[in-house]
Amino acid sequence: MIYDSYIKYYFLIGFLFLIFYAEKKFPLREAEFFRNKRFLMNFLFAATSYIIARVFSYPIIYVFRGLFGDIHIGLFKYIHLNYLYILLISFIILDYSQYIWHRFNHIIPFFWRFHKVHHSDSELDSSTAFRFHFGEQFFSQFFRFIVVILFFIPLEFVLIYDFISLFFIIFHHSNIKFKYDNIFSNLIVTPYIHTIHHSKEFNELNSNFSVIFSFWDRIHRTLNKRPDISNIKIGLIEMSERDAKQFWEIFFWPFKKKIF
Ligand SMILES: [Zn+2]
Repeated sequence: MIYDSYIKYYFLIGFLFLIFYAEKKFPLREAEFFRNKRFLMNFLFAATSYIIARVFSYPIIYVFRGLFGDIHIGLFKYIHLNYLYILLISFIILDYSQYIWHRFNHIIPFFWRFHKVHHSDSELDSSTAFRFHFGEQFFSQFFRFIVVILFFIPLEFVLIYDFISLFFIIFHHSNIKFKYDNIFSNLIVTPYIHTIHHSKEFNELNSNFSVIFSFWDRIHRTLNKRPDISNIKIGLIEMSERDAKQFWEIFFWPFKKKIF
């Protein structure tokens, strides 16, 4: 299947080229600082996180499933539904769990140390979608195991969700002025509403946590659709506008006693 083979990388590269083209042709915001330096830094975060994710993510799910497989826990062990229904429900559960996990990353100081790396980007475009500290990826996998075990979600569906959500994550981080943004943002996370999540303002930073479906934010009253984002300040309040730090410096942030 596409989501489980090297073909997915062709889809990913093709999609990225499409996004790069759209970002150049229809930018949502004009300001761009240190584009090349940011690209390199985001790539380095992607490379280090990818290795960790490959090593720990799915093998751990297999181990957990091997250990807990015979124990009678997990919702889908009890309810017998058609394959498509389980796929749909699993998809919704996984997306909701991503919303909760993202909120945890902002509320719990320990997790914020890692997630802060993602928010330290002084601009926002498709490359920011790859700027995640490996520590955040690592802990997110543990949260994921709990969800997978509680609901007994088939591993295949986890792979499908991850494959699809990656495209959404790249899309909502991109700097694209999207014509129907206002309509689509009622259902899915669009570049406009995710840009608000990357604001330096505390109230905006703590809004729009959803990953694929935006209704989780609506349900939890964390949806923020400020009418104009042309003068939005992106990044961390502690960092100055043109403060592009070195990769290794930011890489070790989570392990420092005091970051700033
Ligand atoms: Zn965030």
